[in-house]
Amino acid sequence: MVGLHAPSSIPNFAFFIFCMKNILTALSLLFATAMFAGETYWQQHVAYSMDIDVDVQNHQFTGKQKLVYTNNSPDELKRVFFHLYFNAFQPGSMMDVRSRTISDPDPRVGDRIAALAENEIGWLRVSTLTMNGKPVSFTEVGTILEVDLPKVIAPGSKTTFEMTFDAQVPLQIRRSGWMNKEGIELSMAQWYPKICEYDHEGWHATPYVGREFHGVWGDFDIHISIDEKYIIGGTGELKNPQEIGYGYTTRIVARKPVNGKLTWHFVAKNVHDFVWAADPDYIHQTAQVPNGPMLHFFYQSNELYDANWEELKHYAVEGFEFMSKNYGNYPYPQYSIIQGGDGGMEYPMATLITGERNLRSLVGVTIHEAAHSWYHGLLATNETLYEWMDEGFCSFATSRTLAHLFTDPMKKNPHQSAYQSYLSLARDGEDEALITPADGYMTNKAYGVAAYSKGEVLLEQLGYVIGEEVRDAALLAYFEKWKFKHPTPTTFKRVMEDVSGIELDWYFDYFVNSKHTIDYGIKQVEGSASNATIILERVGEMPMPVDVVVTLRNGNSLPINIPLVSMRGNKPLDVDGMQFELAPDWAWTNPYYALEIDIPISDILSIEIDPGFHMADIDRDNNRLDLSANTNFIFRN
Ligand SMILES: [Zn+2]
Repeated sequence: MVGLHAPSSIPNFAFFIFCMKNILTALSLLFATAMFAGETYWQQHVAYSMDIDVDVQNHQFTGKQKLVYTNNSPDELKRVFFHLYFNAFQPGSMMDVRSRTISDPDPRVGDRIAALAENEIGWLRVSTLTMNGKPVSFTEVGTILEVDLPKVIAPGSKTTFEMTFDAQVPLQIRRSGWMNKEGIELSMAQWYPKICEYDHEGWHATPYVGREFHGVWGDFDIHISIDEKYIIGGTGELKNPQEIGYGYTTRIVARKPVNGKLTWHFVAKNVHDFVWAADPDYIHQTAQVPNGPMLHFFYQSNELYDANWEELKHYAVEGFEFMSKNYGNYPYPQYSIIQGGDGGMEYPMATLITGERNLRSLVGVTIHEAAHSWYHGLLATNETLYEWMDEGFCSFATSRTLAHLFTDPMKKNPHQSAYQSYLSLARDGEDEALITPADGYMTNKAYGVAAYSKGEVLLEQLGYVIGEEVRDAALLAYFEKWKFKHPTPTTFKRVMEDVSGIELDWYFDYFVNSKHTIDYGIKQVEGSASNATIILERVGEMPMPVDVVVTLRNGNSLPINIPLVSMRGNKPLDVDGMQFELAPDWAWTNPYYALEIDIPISDILSIEIDPGFHMADIDRDNNRLDLSANTNFIFRN
């Protein structure tokens, strides 16, 4: 047929070995060049010291903050910005208006912000601010403090900002707040004036509208004075358990409160945020991960759920072991699993989760948030722009870890539900491209499916493109190269290319930057007593390499891999326990491909594209051709 790819003989094991050699060379090159690749990368640094004094009666606190800011950028900074997240919880705020105008509001928010009373709204007010001891003027604009500097911050220099501030904790609406629905008194996320990130893309003075964060790497030294009856869990290590009469493993009643308050001292190094929660009724327990962090559990006793929290410990320990082995070694000394917030939310070295859940749900949310220690905590992408690298990769790790922890049908294909939810939205045409900024999706549904499900599919499907084991090795290489930094889609792609030896521009260009969908089909088969020609069709707009398995009537099968020209290589050919043969590349512009095999057509029982269901193919009806039941083939001679 005209325009079809010229077929050639298929088995080519010499080429396969050549490719494997390339992959190994690429692996060693990656590590050799890592030291050079970092030369153009820079990131800002913060060192926060804060003294916080909490009034638990009216949910207010005062704070003093000293921030040593290091400008590692090559740029002179004329302005700086701080986040004042609590200001979002006021009627008329951007978060309030967005929630009341989006077609499918998050039920946790809805119109609840608009209904907040004066003593229930949140606010964070900076009263004084100095730069290297000199007063600076500033303007509060919603959730952002705009600061014009009297003197530029020179490249490579350190600047000290000192501020005093007051705050009112909002009634719990989203993530932070007092009195969540399970009765936790203080969930303290996004609670302090936090300098915005400045990176190679400039300032990220992103208003708090609802979703996702981006923070500056650095160190936190935090003192929190609070009513002596309260127990605090949070980011970082507690430095003074003896002073407050509170041990990690035992409660010591030797408290020395001052005016009815105790001061908790936490230190966290090399993180980009600090969360805490406080409640007088917290039970505190611990579990040690072998060769890993101490896990801390903070929850209120509830006879319906206490047994689940008890069980959670060993699942969490095993989960951390699995994730450290597969996604990179967890480097911090501790991790706290804290009942609080409004579902599950990730923070460095800690999570706030709701706790009144069945065991599977409690383990599921804990593992998801803990997996964020890798995909957010350590590989800190700007989630406001690249939410799929945060939620999607985290969902991928969650599915795998849960499949490891629970023996159930999920274990066979842990990513099945992610594929289903992405494909169903794509079929309906309601999906939005992954490149959409987190707050910019037209619906919450499209955001959720894109960030979580399509992001998970992107990573699982990448294993189909470059090989599962190569993908897994590349994830570890990505962790080693980009932990404690801000990776971007391009830096991620580069690691995947380096480790696999395969060019991947096309994969990210289509799957991230467009809504193009994948659909491959078997058009027809024709053949003779000596051979067969299978005509494959690219129906969808997105090109992909194609795995085809031809099953013969004698029970044998012939698995074949057709790479794309754009890949400039191919994956290892052992897939799902089968040894694939390599076919010539498919140039994506051609909608058809003729696959010639030296097998009599009468010997063929069936032909299937991607029988392992690794490809996000929106129409699988055309993926399989059963020659015993189907007449769509031509027998020549
Ligand atoms: Zn998440």
